[in-house]
Amino acid sequence: MRLQLIQIAYLIATALFIFALHWMNDPKTARRGVFAGVAAMTVAILGTILYPGLVNWHWLAVGAVLGVIVGVPLSWVPLTAVPQRTALSHAFGGLAAGLVGTAEYYLWVGGEHEMLTPFRVFAIVAEIILGFLTFTGSLMAAGKLQEVKWIPQRPVTYPFQNQSNFLLLAVAVACGIAVIVRPIELSYLFPVIIALALIFGVLLIIPIGGADMPTVIALLNSYAGLSAVAMGFVLDNKLLITAGALDGSSGLILSIIMCKAMNRSFANVLFGAFGQVQAKAAAGEQKLVKQETAEGAAQIMEQASSVVIVPGYGMAVAQAQHRVRELYDQLTKRGVDVRFAIHPVAGRMPGHMNVLLAETEIPYDHLVEMDDINPDLPQADVVLVIGANDVVNPAARHDKSSPIYGMPIIDADKAKMCFAIKRSMNPGFAGIDNELYTADHTYMLFGDAKSVVGELVKNLSGGSGMH
Ligand code: NAP
Repeated sequence: MRLQLIQIAYLIATALFIFALHWMNDPKTARRGVFAGVAAMTVAILGTILYPGLVNWHWLAVGAVLGVIVGVPLSWVPLTAVPQRTALSHAFGGLAAGLVGTAEYYLWVGGEHEMLTPFRVFAIVAEIILGFLTFTGSLMAAGKLQEVKWIPQRPVTYPFQNQSNFLLLAVAVACGIAVIVRPIELSYLFPVIIALALIFGVLLIIPIGGADMPTVIALLNSYAGLSAVAMGFVLDNKLLITAGALDGSSGLILSIIMCKAMNRSFANVLFGAFGQVQAKAAAGEQKLVKQETAEGAAQIMEQASSVVIVPGYGMAVAQAQHRVRELYDQLTKRGVDVRFAIHPVAGRMPGHMNVLLAETEIPYDHLVEMDDINPDLPQADVVLVIGANDVVNPAARHDKSSPIYGMPIIDADKAKMCFAIKRSMNPGFAGIDNELYTADHTYMLFGDAKSVVGELVKNLSGGSGMH
């Protein structure tokens, strides 16, 4: 009876996990998705507690208290730090899987030899390799994103890097196969596999640029999921298998979506050392940059009939979204049609711009996806680029030598006029110059996005009724 109850609890938890993922597809239902995920986890934990003879209450309580102590402050991080926070969660997930696999192995080697079937040992080996490499890889990824001083942000490359990494992994896998064949006699190889997996996690991440990390984190997410699947087989726990599979596949799908939106392949993200400092254009090729004042830009925008705002990473850094909302209010009050052009990889995590703008309660139907807004851009009177760079770089369309060639972009250059807010002429994530800023119809508004948008608002509210 108790076992049946547990199976029913697991079934309910699985269904809730699936609904959680489905609801998180849309900002309107995303909150419901989060609650469904929390409910699924609660049901799963309650179900596991019911397992006869399996639970040691003291350790469970210690784990729960530690989880709360670490987890609650992690939920307070600002939105811009969510990618590194997610990486830390994956690190914990990977470590848990690795430790459980290690504990089971030594438990069985120490006495219950009949449990060491080739399939179970195979699952343990998969679990510890994936778990431990996810642990160190995710820690490195979190460190790079947090810009920890002693971890270089730029890709670290050296000769035969990929070859030596593959060799290391191959040695770990070979040791794993040996342990599967002779699990008791060759148990001394087990710590070697763990050490190699830990080192491989670090080496996998160092050639990847800090800004590519969100994609890699999605990939590490799927490794953590796969190690949970392996753990499910080791512990004979069906919920771990299904939840791990959902986690693994959603991580993989997310990284594929991100790679597609950046027009990059997995291989390029993992081994391309993207984000290295690019050679600067020769001084003779430098084109003139025109500047405009906030006052002048505000006057032009209030005369416009349609304004398209393109937000990017800089808006997130400056936390300018509430000022942007005020700008939206001022312009719509004057009858200007204001819409937001949302690029799928603007910012540093999927949905970054949607989340920030939703926080300010700008109506969803004014946030327009790239493919839907691009046909309208030639008719837009003004495009206002706020801290975006790569996602509006026309080089992606025509410059075959550009690292972003082929990436779909928002056609800001096709509007009648363009204002661009950024602090300097520094490049964005891809490290390349942007010809939009030197185009004839582009005017720069240099400064921090929050203060420049604030000045635009001030000019508009101060000048109301003057025209
Ligand atoms: P971007 O190309 O990184 O450019 C951001 C611009 O914002 C910079 O040029 C910077 O110029 C400016 N900026 C920074 N802080 C600012 C501030 N406080 N005030 C005003 N401007 C500021 O950003 P993007 O156009 O949003 O493109 C995103 C890039 O990230 C793409 O290349 C994408 O492939 C990549 N990426 C995205 C994701 C994702 O999931 N969204 C994941 C991985 C990679 P200044 O320094 O001159 O101010």
